[in-house]
Amino acid sequence: MTAQREKRSWRDPSKYLRHIHVEEGCVDLPVTREILERAQLPWSVVPERQAPDGLDGDCAANLSHGKQHLLLCRNRGQFFKPCPGTKEYRCCKYEVLSTGMNCPMDCAYCILQAYMNTPWITHYVNTGDLLAELDRVLDADPSRLHRIGTGEFTDSLALDRITGLSRILVEYFAGKPNAVLELKTKSAVVGNLASLAHRGRTVVAWSLNSPAVVRREELRSATLVERLEAAAQCAAWGYRLAFHFDPIIDYPGWQDGYRETIRLLFARVPAASIAWISLGALRYLPHLKEIGVERFPGSSIYFQEFVDGLDGKSRYYRKRRVGLYQYIYRQLMQCADPRTCIYFCMESSEVWQEVMGFDPEAEGGIAAMLDRTVFD
Ligand code: SF4
Repeated sequence: MTAQREKRSWRDPSKYLRHIHVEEGCVDLPVTREILERAQLPWSVVPERQAPDGLDGDCAANLSHGKQHLLLCRNRGQFFKPCPGTKEYRCCKYEVLSTGMNCPMDCAYCILQAYMNTPWITHYVNTGDLLAELDRVLDADPSRLHRIGTGEFTDSLALDRITGLSRILVEYFAGKPNAVLELKTKSAVVGNLASLAHRGRTVVAWSLNSPAVVRREELRSATLVERLEAAAQCAAWGYRLAFHFDPIIDYPGWQDGYRETIRLLFARVPAASIAWISLGALRYLPHLKEIGVERFPGSSIYFQEFVDGLDGKSRYYRKRRVGLYQYIYRQLMQCADPRTCIYFCMESSEVWQEVMGFDPEAEGGIAAMLDRTVFD
């Protein structure tokens, strides 16, 4: 069974792509040409601001097919945005660099299913505009520190074999003393990160889950072992690492599952290389349930008891969340390096107190705790 699962794993989810669509005005951009050359896939031209042929219609219904299609286009809006955290919960003041939308993997809990209105994958090829915007933001106040991630609306590395974007970003951030880039992924695509002069300004991060959740709920993602091997390779190249246990899912046997993942993590990755680890229990916009149940009939993640959070998202009730966190936090604390910052994504001060025994505000806030791990 294990061998079979290994065979079906996806180290590099870009293999799922079947066709590339290029917006008319982007055909001659050098970035576009490089991507087409690397991908070696059939491609066609799309008129400006129009949908690729055959992919209009209901987004959720077309998503499985849409994930085989990549649109290369220009981002006409802003690349750089503050994280859409909410004031009701303690937030880490992360900033988001939007490099595209959607990804070739398919997670039953993916928030993008309810958020997007187009089913294909989008990648922005006006990289010069992206870097110019970053310059404006980062150079405006050199004393202000920024932690910036590209994994909010897409997976940071899932398409990296063909886009090569990580090289450009890692080299760019190496020259910015007031910023750190976080590349977050569920793939094992790290080839482009080899032999780059990253100067400690890039953190490479993986979402982790219990082996059962990875297998059942995260389609076309790398296996846990593949993710951790890739992480160990990045540590050997001198990168700091991060891990996100998010979404933590309650299911029969969850204790054994998360314990096994934590065991594998510290068996394969040097604890001292880990800058931060986040914990976040499953939460979702209520209308995601309808889409998730329809698209993943075998998944049971939505059939639990949930309450409406202050941010309008459904989440496990507090006692349940605290129970999940206490167990996982204890396991992590047995192996984690004392300098690794373990934090909650979007939780209340009460939950921090109950699980970790302190309010992050007493430490200057989550943002300051994270900043200390990479800027000091
Ligand atoms: S890897 Fe991330 S972006 Fe891709 S489907 Fe899963 S949750 Fe969504």
